[in-house]
Amino acid sequence: MACAGSFGACFPDVLSGYGIAMTARPLVLMFCLLSATGYGQDGAILDVTSERARQQLENIQTLRDAGELQQAEAATLLLLERSRSQHSPADVAAAFHELGHISSQQNKYDLAQRAFQNSLEIFTEQELLQQIAVLLADLGANISIQSRYSDALDYLYRALTLYQSLNDQQGIAKLQLRIGIVLKELGQFGPALESLQRALSADAQNQDQALVGDALTEIGKIYLAMGQHEDALSYLQDALAINTKLALEQRIAKSHSVLGELYLNMQHYDQARIQLNEAITRFSALDAPLDHDWALTTLGQVELAQGNTQLGLTYLTEALGRAKEHNFASLLTHIHLAIAEAFLRLNNLELALNHADKGLIEAEKRDELSRQTEFLAVKVSVFTAQQNFRQAFEALARKTRLEALIVDKNSAMSMAQLQSELEVERQAKSIDALRRNKAIALAEAEQKNLRTTLFLGSIVAILLFIFLLWSRFTQRHQNIVLKREVKYRTQELEEKNRQLQDAYQTLEQVSLRDPLTGLYNRHYLEAQLPGEIQRCQHSFVQTAHTHAQDQDLLCFVLDIDNFKRINDDYGHLAGDRFLMQFTKVIRDVFRQTDLLIRWGGEEFLVICRNANRYDMCMLAERFRAAVTEETFYLTDELSIKGSCSIGFCSLPLYRHHPYKLDWQRTFSIMDYCLYAAKNSGKNCWVGVIEGLMEQQGSTRATHHIEQKFALPHLEIATSLNNLASINWPDENANNENQAPVLTSSS
Ligand code: GH3
Ligand code: MG
Ligand code: MG
Repeated sequence: MACAGSFGACFPDVLSGYGIAMTARPLVLMFCLLSATGYGQDGAILDVTSERARQQLENIQTLRDAGELQQAEAATLLLLERSRSQHSPADVAAAFHELGHISSQQNKYDLAQRAFQNSLEIFTEQELLQQIAVLLADLGANISIQSRYSDALDYLYRALTLYQSLNDQQGIAKLQLRIGIVLKELGQFGPALESLQRALSADAQNQDQALVGDALTEIGKIYLAMGQHEDALSYLQDALAINTKLALEQRIAKSHSVLGELYLNMQHYDQARIQLNEAITRFSALDAPLDHDWALTTLGQVELAQGNTQLGLTYLTEALGRAKEHNFASLLTHIHLAIAEAFLRLNNLELALNHADKGLIEAEKRDELSRQTEFLAVKVSVFTAQQNFRQAFEALARKTRLEALIVDKNSAMSMAQLQSELEVERQAKSIDALRRNKAIALAEAEQKNLRTTLFLGSIVAILLFIFLLWSRFTQRHQNIVLKREVKYRTQELEEKNRQLQDAYQTLEQVSLRDPLTGLYNRHYLEAQLPGEIQRCQHSFVQTAHTHAQDQDLLCFVLDIDNFKRINDDYGHLAGDRFLMQFTKVIRDVFRQTDLLIRWGGEEFLVICRNANRYDMCMLAERFRAAVTEETFYLTDELSIKGSCSIGFCSLPLYRHHPYKLDWQRTFSIMDYCLYAAKNSGKNCWVGVIEGLMEQQGSTRATHHIEQKFALPHLEIATSLNNLASINWPDENANNENQAPVLTSSS
């Protein structure tokens, strides 16, 4: 207990809980007043009702707050009936709850108790925890008004436990307030202030201004009971301001009533009277007889204190009658005490003793121990004044025993309260532990789930990985095998290609080349020549007007003279050697790019490409000379001299008409020239350089070859002395072999 010993020391704590230092309190009050948003208690009850019942209950609460208790009661009973007939349990429970409040406000506490109980039973059946908590709190508050503080605490702590389990901060704050009130009534001001401080701080945070007002009122009452009047005054004034701002009639009236009591204690009788009259007027209007009579009693005490004995006693007697009638227990004993004390002061010992005895009996009935001590104190004074010392002593002894009992009871109560607090703490802890366990269980389940998922995921991942590795491996293996196969196949193919190439070459060698001399044979020429001639003819057409040179084909036929005799004289092998050396001479004289053909036996053909026809004589002569100059070795020891005859012809023969003659015809002319050379003594050459289409002044064929081929204008050349020296083979014969003349269109 933080405030044990000096209650005044708690004051700063309370203020700090209230949220601000004392000097700034008016500002806080202003803030509270400005931000007040209305009065909405019992919201939890309205949450579960039907929409229509909710609207009606809101209207009823407005009536109750305005003090129209009879109207509120009638409306609530109507609602209760209707809800019952409609079989709507939540609406019925809410109506009972409201009825409890109205009854409580009318000071009909037993009725209120029954109404709250009914409501609680229905909500318990419905298992509505929030609503059960509200009802437990209301029951606690209702019972505490009837001074059954121990029962009240039991209800309130049960409600507090529920609110804590629901983590309802506003509910917890309300319970702290109510527990604080009960503790105050029990005279345990320290714990009461502590509880109220918690309520005030939470309420300020929750912005529940009505509860802030209530907490301030209760704190004010504690300071009043403790005799710290100035502190009590400021708290009560703040509470009044808040209640006024919120227009809470019942609370405004109570604030005035408590302020009246305070001013009485402060001996400010005029102010006390003002406050109490205000309270009485308001309680009358509110139809709250207990509160009304409590204020009236205090007013009576004010009058008595000011010496207005008659008026004071009138008020007190009036209140006493109604307290007896309505069985307002604590008020009843309170009035008896006030009257007894008044008569004692007036020295009317008989009446003082009379009221003290009556009050004592009432207090005993209700087990109000501290009240009993107060009556016993009056009796001690009366007996002392009467000098009846034995009875005075007996009363005093009884008073002392009671006081000891009170101390015992209070400490027992403190223990019980402590136990209740511990129980609340324990339950809160176990709820917390449950929550934690649940969270742990959930987390564990989740973790287990996660572990299973991870485990399965890992297995799948590993399997996938293995599969990937395996497929990579097999793929690589396949690739290697495939590559090896491809390489092998490629090598095989390359080998085949090479073999094919060789075969082709061999074939070419066999089919296109002459095995003895290595020169191309007649087949090669027949395959190659037409293409060469076409290219040449085309080139002539293209360059017909440019007089381009070096585009002629020069055709030579070379025939060894008297070769047969070599064979005959020296043998066939020697002939072969001659032929090979003769080939070498051909290769030496002609260009590499020229076509060198073994035409047959000892006859050779040379075709020079991209050449000039006027070089033919020079070439023929150079070759003829080369042969004659050559020494032919038939064996290593034996060598002879040789010669050859040459016939030649240009191709195309007609430069301006390249298609005039085909190559076979041209070759015939060339062959004829060779015969002419043989016929003219051998070791010489005869050739046709060019054919002219027409020549000025001469249209007749001069030479035999012209006549033979019917080509009148041929430019003939020879190594002989002159053209006339040529002995044409069948010059003297008839032209029976004359070839037909080709047309220029060819
Ligand atoms: P001419 O001066 O008129 O040309 O007379 P020739 O003896 O040179 O011509 P002929 O046509 O009368 O004889 C050619 C001979 O060449 C006939 C043949 O036995 C010979 N001969 C042909 N081919 C070969 C060969 O490959 N080797 C050898 N040793 N002789 C061959
Ligand atoms: Mg021959
Ligand atoms: Mg020959």
